[in-house]
Parts: sequence; C-alpha cells; structure tokens
Amino acid sequence: MTTTRTAIVTGAASDRGIGMAVADRYAADGWAVVILDLDGERAAQVAAEIGERHGVAHFGATVNVADEASVEAARVAVAAEVEAGRLPVVGALANIAGITSPVPFLETDLALWNKVMAVNATGTYLVTKAFLPPMLEAGFGRIVNMSSVSAQRGGGVFGKVPYSAAKAAILGFTKALAREIADSGVTVNSVTPGAVDTNIRVGTTPELEARIAADIPIGRTASTDEISAVFAFLSSEGASYLQGTNIDINGGSHMH
Ligand code: NAD
Repeated sequence: MTTTRTAIVTGAASDRGIGMAVADRYAADGWAVVILDLDGERAAQVAAEIGERHGVAHFGATVNVADEASVEAARVAVAAEVEAGRLPVVGALANIAGITSPVPFLETDLALWNKVMAVNATGTYLVTKAFLPPMLEAGFGRIVNMSSVSAQRGGGVFGKVPYSAAKAAILGFTKALAREIADSGVTVNSVTPGAVDTNIRVGTTPELEARIAADIPIGRTASTDEISAVFAFLSSEGASYLQGTNIDINGGSHMH
C-alpha cells in the first residue's frame, strides 16, 4: 500500500506491548509511523525496525505525555519532519501510553492519584491537542484512545481506583471531542480491552493468569495483535461513520 499519511503512536517502545503491535500494524497497512515514548532511544530503534520491515517512513522520539513542554517539543519535531518531506502528513493518532496501579484505595496517596491521572488522562489530552490541528487542516484524521474494561466494570486485578478513574476520563474525553469536531473529517473513538498479555501486568504469576483466564468466556487473555486489529479498523478510511464510539475487546468478559 502507498504511504500517504503518518500515524503517531504513544507508548509503543515497550517490548511485547500493545503500542508496539499497533505501530507494526499501522506500518503493515502502509502508514508511516511515529513512536513517542518515555524511552526515546528505544522509540527510535523500534520505529526504525518497524519502518524498515514494512518499507515506510519512520520517526521516534522521547516524550513524557504528561508534560506539556515535552509534548510540544515532540509536536515541533514531527512538524519539522513533515515540513522537510521525510514524513507524510499526520493522519492518525493512537493514544496508548499508560500506567496502571494495583494499590488499594486507602493506601493510595495524592501523588499516586496525580501520576496515574497525568499519564493516562492528561497525556491523552496533551498529545491530542498537539496533533489534532494538522488533521483538522487536512480534513482527515483518526484518533483512537486507549481506555480499559477497568473503566466500565470498576477496576480489575492490576488497575484499581486511580486507573479506573483515569480510563473512565478517557471515555468522556473521547465522546466530548468527537461531538465537538464531528463533521471535520477527524473521528475520535476509544477501545476498552480486557486482559492483554503484556509487561504491564507486573507481579503476575501462572496461577493468577489461570484464574484470570478462567473468568473470561473466550477462556484466555487477548494477544496484542487482537488489539491492534481494532486500532487498524478504527483508523481506516472505511471507519468514517464511527464517531465517539467505544469498542470493547474483552473476550466476552464484560457485555453491556
Ligand atoms: P506497557 O507497560 O507494555 O506499555 C506502556 C508504554 O507506555 C511503555 O512503552 C511506556 O514506556 C509508555 N509510557 C509510560 N508512561 C509514559 C509517559 N509518561 N509518556 C510516554 N510514554 C509512557 O503496557 P501495555 O499493556 O502495552 O499497555 C498499553 C496501554 O494499554 C496502556 O494505556 C494500558 O493502560 C492499556 N491497557 C492495557 C491492558 C493490558 O491488560 N495489558 C488492558 C487494557 C488497557
């Protein structure tokens, strides 16, 4: 497929992570890929590996999605790449960077609350604000925000109150922005995965994984490819009539 647009993916430097699978899938579908991650060195490496594997333009940089100056620096760097003709115009943004916290409510403190809200919710706000303008200008864009089933069913094993609240904020953010820019050619949607087999599940054990799988009607956790397939669909030209939608990817563990 001809590369005509750039997809920006945050949180895609983690090995076995969802972001990396999404970036790889975008590149396989012909998008040029930009990876923005706290781990800038790895972001550039992963972007180069993926770009070269699929023959598309690529760029990776350090960004702390929770920090406005850092996001602005990334915006400027990406704009310079586009200006120089090394990247095509920005056409998609996958807000995937996130952290979780398994700390029980009364053991949390304000610093933990602020951190989890900052990376997940404020990060989605800042990165979207930075990269929405060129999509509006082009009259085409696909924004896909990473929420979680945790937001819908009251937390989970690895994500408790601050995580669930932050991921719920992303659902409201998605719908309100989708409504505000509904007729612009830019769509804003979200996904709510259940358990996905990645390194975010710190401290897990085979016994715990077996218990989690037993609770899922499909009988197992999701692969990262099963999540990236939905990002690819929501970012496709054909998904033009999905606006403010959330797609559950939970193996039947939460039907509503
Ligand atoms: P992961 O820990 O493998 O990846 C998270 C990535 O985000 C890492 O590359 C990390 O460096 C990056 N990151 C963290 N803080 C950042 C910051 N401040 N700025 C920029 N980058 C930052 O985890 P994952 O499982 O691939 O999770 C990806 C996303 O999917 C997260 O938002 C997570 O909450 C969400 N999610 C995961 C699951 C699951 O079961 N794994 C389920 C539902 C939702």
